[in-house]
Amino acid sequence: MSKVLYEQDVNTEVLREKRIAIIGYGSQGHAHAQNLRESRFDVIVGLRPGKSQVKAEEDGFTVLSVADAVKQAEVVMILLPDEMQTTVYTESIEPNLQPGNAIAFAHGFNIHFSQIVPPSNVDVFLVAPKGPGHLVRRTYEEGAGVPALYGIYQDVSGKAKEIALAYAQGIGAARAGILETSFQEETETDLFGEQAVLCGGVTSLIKAGFETLTEAGYQPEVAYFECLHEMKLIVDLLYEGGLENMRYSISDTAQWGDFVSGPRVVNEETKARMKEILQDVQTGAFAKGWILENQANRPQFNAINAKENQHPIEQVGKELRALMPFVSEPLQKKQNKQKD
Ligand code: NDP
Ligand code: MG
Ligand code: MG
Repeated sequence: MSKVLYEQDVNTEVLREKRIAIIGYGSQGHAHAQNLRESRFDVIVGLRPGKSQVKAEEDGFTVLSVADAVKQAEVVMILLPDEMQTTVYTESIEPNLQPGNAIAFAHGFNIHFSQIVPPSNVDVFLVAPKGPGHLVRRTYEEGAGVPALYGIYQDVSGKAKEIALAYAQGIGAARAGILETSFQEETETDLFGEQAVLCGGVTSLIKAGFETLTEAGYQPEVAYFECLHEMKLIVDLLYEGGLENMRYSISDTAQWGDFVSGPRVVNEETKARMKEILQDVQTGAFAKGWILENQANRPQFNAINAKENQHPIEQVGKELRALMPFVSEPLQKKQNKQKD
């Protein structure tokens, strides 16, 4: 088994004497900046004028233009949307890097797919939390953390690994476990996981179940509870104790149904599709499509997004959640409130 590192395995000294610029203050950016600051590291934020800039200032950070933040820091963590990174990097980051600085990423996409080619005189590393940014923050506040992968692409200082581990410790990841990876492995597994399982797989599974029930004449409210609401309760059990723990908690009838019917839904054919998805990720076909989609101003992304938001499960879900005050407000709504 690979060695998982925890707080006692990490020496943070090397990062204490450096200033860290967090570029971007979105899902990951706000969490990294606040966690690192509370871990007593020297943090500034680099942004363009706008909503994030106002928020970061309200949160008490020194906020500079991206160019100035890069000039004033030794470690530059790039937490911009992946599709914006190349432009901002070329215009404002690369021209302001000093030899011996480090640039860092939370996802390997742009380095692995050669959208960013860093100069040979800086360290390049990856600290990729395996969870959404808002949970990187929330778990840190609770004294816990989200696990993270770290990887080194370029080690000029001879200390890139130490810096990466200290950074991972600073955002709270060492409380949950840090595991070494490469930019290639992180990029390919992250894209595959979100497409086939976590995001794409789960939303398609939920919608197909909901549609099957409602098309057979069952009430949409019942179908919503069965196929979406309960998903969280089941996933919590999986998170806490794996498949066995979840199966321990459900009825034996549910467990028998799990055994005999699960493999009818996700079968060899599904796995063959998963292999195709993985291949598209590995060959760069997926990356190329996404880069071109952005260059064309996202015609397909926007059209599909609008259609998805109109799905009947979204309509019934809104009504039902409004009547369940204990279901917390969706993050999106909360954030817009904070920003407005
Ligand atoms: P978000 O979209 O949440 O945040 C983007 C931030 O970048 C915003 O603060 C935005 O500010 C700022 N920004 C956008 N364009 C510019 C620009 N041209 N100049 C300056 N600032 C700009 O990004 P994420 O946190 O989701 O993603 C950041 C990185 O983390 C990505 O590499 C992603 O793959 C990775 N990652 C993300 C995860 C997640 O949980 N979301 C999980 C693990 C990794 P403004 O308000 O001005 O638009
Ligand atoms: Mg991802
Ligand atoms: Mg049931």
